[in-house]
Amino acid sequence: MIMGKVNNISVLSDKLKKYLLEKSLRQTPERMALLEVVTKLKRRFTVDDLDALFSESNFKLSRATLYNNIHLFENAGILRRHKISSQKACYEVVYSDEPLSCYQEICTICGKIRDFTDAEIAQHILARKSRFFRPEYFSVQIHGICYGCLRKMKKEKQKNINQ
Ligand SMILES: [Zn+2]
Repeated sequence: MIMGKVNNISVLSDKLKKYLLEKSLRQTPERMALLEVVTKLKRRFTVDDLDALFSESNFKLSRATLYNNIHLFENAGILRRHKISSQKACYEVVYSDEPLSCYQEICTICGKIRDFTDAEIAQHILARKSRFFRPEYFSVQIHGICYGCLRKMKKEKQKNINQ
């Protein structure tokens, strides 16, 4: 599995180089550094996360450059953008052209988001045929209360009973 990801990183690098060539754009060190950073992250990230990472590194990428290149990576099919109503947009690396599914458990109290995948549900949903639409990915949001908040609520309740 890890080997697969390593190979995919060179695939992504080739994909980016090809895209830049097609669009007559330069293969700048900043763009290659951004690719390296996003492929090293094993989770979803926001522009703020990248900003923080770059401010610690030797590369000084301005916020505008960061935004421009993230947009470019999106168009190149390297990054996928997720936006959940009031939350900040977050991004993830697209390691293959397979339709990707994303599930999120969102706590309605503290706002914590947990990502997980379920290949079985994905297969089921994406098998749905449509003549007028080509599904590429989907996202499911499950709203509820996280264990941390549940525990806190239970404690509060206990406190009230004891008083
Ligand atoms: Zn919570």
